[in-house]
Amino acid sequence: MTTLLITHPASLQHEMPPGHPERIERIRAVEQALEDERFAGLIRATAPLGLLEQVTLCHPPAFAQAVIAASPETGLVQIDADTLMSPGTVEAALRGVGAATYAVDEVMRGAVANAFCATRPPGHHAESEKAMGFCFFNSAAIAARHAQKAHGVERVAIVDWDVHHGNGTQEIFWDDPSVLYASSHEMPLYPGTGAPSERGQHGTIVNAPLRAGDASEEFREAFEAALLPRVEAFAPDLIIISAGFDAHWRDPLANINLKEADFAWATQKLMEIADRRAKGRVVSVLEGGYDLEALSRSAAAHVMALMRG
Ligand SMILES: [Zn+2]
Repeated sequence: MTTLLITHPASLQHEMPPGHPERIERIRAVEQALEDERFAGLIRATAPLGLLEQVTLCHPPAFAQAVIAASPETGLVQIDADTLMSPGTVEAALRGVGAATYAVDEVMRGAVANAFCATRPPGHHAESEKAMGFCFFNSAAIAARHAQKAHGVERVAIVDWDVHHGNGTQEIFWDDPSVLYASSHEMPLYPGTGAPSERGQHGTIVNAPLRAGDASEEFREAFEAALLPRVEAFAPDLIIISAGFDAHWRDPLANINLKEADFAWATQKLMEIADRRAKGRVVSVLEGGYDLEALSRSAAAHVMALMRG
């Protein structure tokens, strides 16, 4: 069984102004790292275009249409203080949705063991009716609902180790007991949500915040004490990872001091649960990660773990 890598050139057409951290070079760095011969065993695919009916699994049609309508013909338009759209943004965001849903399709039909979607923009800050924090459509959340609708999956666990809290994913599944959302993140930090007291309508939101300066030991403790037991007990049929790599010590947007090996470790722990509970099914979606060297090395460690390397 193999690991599927999904990319699309549209990820390189979502343009940002000079100096913006969520930049095209992020994807180039990840793609370059995964060109190494150690990754020759990957199955590689190009993302299909996500469909409006997939986007609307998590976002109202009026919101989806408003994002598409906001697309500029030239130049950039500002959505919030740090979220902008260029002419290539809508296709990039829809390819991200297409990558995540296609990854679910291939994992669910057993064509591959697991999958990694190396696309941008990220998605976990996108709430049902709000684009924010570099995010437009919540691809990880859409992938979870797609698994339920298209493949009859009952329970999905979304595990989010991006250093920022996935407020969008939490909001979308706040009152949905069929999806567990489990997150480790620095707090206080953007966007401000993610306290342990935020548990959702049915107790299926699990937040394990870290403090500025925390490192491998605290991260692994948060996983072993707070997150992994809840994922295991939830007995998911599929695990989706919101894989941001901005908790790396080199990252400029946060103050958690992880190393590449920590992402590989967390990947392995989730794969062990998936093996026991979910026929090994894991779909991983790239979120943040803003130091190019840390991002490329961390993504490589994550994908190598997915390949059981
Ligand atoms: Zn982040």
